[in-house]
Amino acid sequence: MFDAQRTRMVEDQLKSRGIADPRVLAAFRKVPRHRFVPEELEREAYADRPLPIGEGQTISQPYMVALMTSRLRLQGHERVLEIGTGSGYQTAILAELALEVFSVERLPELLASAKTRLEGLGYLNVHLTPGNGSLGWPEHAPYDAIIVTAASPDIPPPLLAQLAEGGRLVLPIGGPSAQTLVEAEKRQGAVRRLEITGCIFVPLVGQYGWRISP
Ligand code: SAH
Repeated sequence: MFDAQRTRMVEDQLKSRGIADPRVLAAFRKVPRHRFVPEELEREAYADRPLPIGEGQTISQPYMVALMTSRLRLQGHERVLEIGTGSGYQTAILAELALEVFSVERLPELLASAKTRLEGLGYLNVHLTPGNGSLGWPEHAPYDAIIVTAASPDIPPPLLAQLAEGGRLVLPIGGPSAQTLVEAEKRQGAVRRLEITGCIFVPLVGQYGWRISP
C-alpha cells in the first residue's frame, strides 16, 4: 500500500512540478516516509502537505523537501550539513544522495527518535548531534552543501564560514510566519544569493535564529 502511495507521490507531487533529477526522484521512491511520522498519521504520510511530528515541529511537505534537495545539486561525493533533523526524513533523503550527512537538532526527544529510525533503516553515513544548529557543527567543517530546515532572519554567519568554496546553502529566510527559500553559493569569498520561492517553516531558535520558544 505504501509503495503505491510513494510512487504516486513522486509522479503527482514531484515530477509534475518540475523535480527532474533522476537521483533525487529515486531517493524519494526509496525512503519510506511513513516510517518518519507518528504512527497515528502513517496513512497521511504521502499527502501533499507537512505533518506534525511532536514538540510543535513538522515534517516538511514532500515537494519542499525535494525542491530544497534538488537545489543542492548533489552528485554523491559531498559532505552535507543539515540543521534541524526533526523526523530525520530529509536526513535520509540526503544520505541517499551524498557521501556523509551531519545533522544538528536542538530538541533531544526528536533527535532520539530520528536516530532510532535512521539506524533501523540501516543508514551508516549519517551523524547526528544535539545542539544549536545556528552555530553549525564546526568540528566537521567545511561542508560541500548546507541545508537549514527552519527559518532564520538571515544566513547565520557560522554556516557561511563552514561552507566550502564553491559550496551551496539552501535555507528559508524571513519572519516566523512566512519566508523566502534562498539558495546561496560561496565563490571566492563572495556570496551569490538566489530567491527560489515563498515558503513556511518553523523558526530556527537560538543565536543567529529567533530568540523565541516554539
Ligand atoms: N527536516 C525536518 C524538518 C524538521 S522541522 C524533517 O524532515 O522532519 C525543523 C526542525 O528544526 C525542528 O525539529 C526544530 O526543533 C529544529 N530546530 C529549530 N531551531 C534549531 C536550531 N537552532 N538548531 C537545531 N535545530 C533546530
